[in-house]
Amino acid sequence: MSILVVAEHDNAALKPAVLNAVTAAVELAGHAGGDVHLLVAGEGSGAVAEEAAKVAGVAKVLHADGAAYAHGLAENLAPLIVKLASGYSHVIAAATSFGKNVMPRAAALLDVQQVSDISAIESADTFIRPIYAGNAMATVRSTDSVKLITIRGTAFDAAAAEGGSAAVESTDGAGDTGLSRFMGQELTKSERPELTTAGIVISGGRGMQSGDNFAMLEKVADKLGAAIGASRAAVDAGFVPNDYQVGQTGKVVAPDLYLAIGISGAIQHLAGMKDSKIIVAINKDEEAPIFQVADYGLVADLFQAVPELEAALDG
Ligand code: FAD
Repeated sequence: MSILVVAEHDNAALKPAVLNAVTAAVELAGHAGGDVHLLVAGEGSGAVAEEAAKVAGVAKVLHADGAAYAHGLAENLAPLIVKLASGYSHVIAAATSFGKNVMPRAAALLDVQQVSDISAIESADTFIRPIYAGNAMATVRSTDSVKLITIRGTAFDAAAAEGGSAAVESTDGAGDTGLSRFMGQELTKSERPELTTAGIVISGGRGMQSGDNFAMLEKVADKLGAAIGASRAAVDAGFVPNDYQVGQTGKVVAPDLYLAIGISGAIQHLAGMKDSKIIVAINKDEEAPIFQVADYGLVADLFQAVPELEAALDG
């Protein structure tokens, strides 16, 4: 039995988290045996299938092309996964919004218990996953015949995008369920690196006081090549869009450098960034809990410290 990875893409290119899911699948194949296959379901997505075939560790790409898969609607993708699942011991996706949307639906249709957001693989049926916002790690064993799993991208390195030479095999789709319809999308366009894969992230919290003040962080981000994130309080206050949110109910990041500016360090925020390699915090309250996880802490008014930081980066 092989392992199927469900690929997230935009019909033009794979999303970076797919490479982390492939690494998890290859590791799992080391325990469970079998090959790693990648499912690319889209419309006009031939280039993605070709890209997927080059990913190191992938033995086969299953390519389902049709209008039903044009926009990654979970209602149409889930029956396709169900149709394919009997040939696989495990079906894996990254725990991104896409994976969190598609996989539970497929698991429900298969009547199996999904194992969500795993950060380590103990064996073919035993996995480690964070619980209580990352304050404890649970070791869970699944007895389901096919195991549906989402993986925490930051816990698995990205597989090499080049080096593989998988066969691409066309597969019939499962049709349009008619349960949902794509109406449109509003995408944040940014030249900056994607938040979950950026090497450096600078995040602002309620202490930023307004969305306009995030311009200060943008200037620093431009100089560092960083992505911009935010606490939920900053998102809820309307300073920045939802997709900036880092934390338990936002994105999980683990960059080389994380700068927390005007963020208190609530456990729900820490759940999304505490695995960052180096954490720097600027906060005017020396009692702020963020300083307990920070490698470098500066007790200062951010409206003075951030412009100074930006100026120092010129030097
Ligand atoms: P605050 O806690 O208000 O902190 C603002 C900080 O800015 C303070 O420490 C203050 O000292 C500092 N500050 C103010 N002015 C300045 C200045 N001029 N210079 C320097 N420092 C200054 N939160 C998340 O972030 N992500 C999540 O995913 C998330 N999920 C949640 C899920 C649930 C179920 C719940 C209940 C909560 C969740 N939260 C999440 C919210 C979380 O509990 C906190 O409320 C939130 O993280 C606080 O954001 P903050 O640190 O920006 O705001």
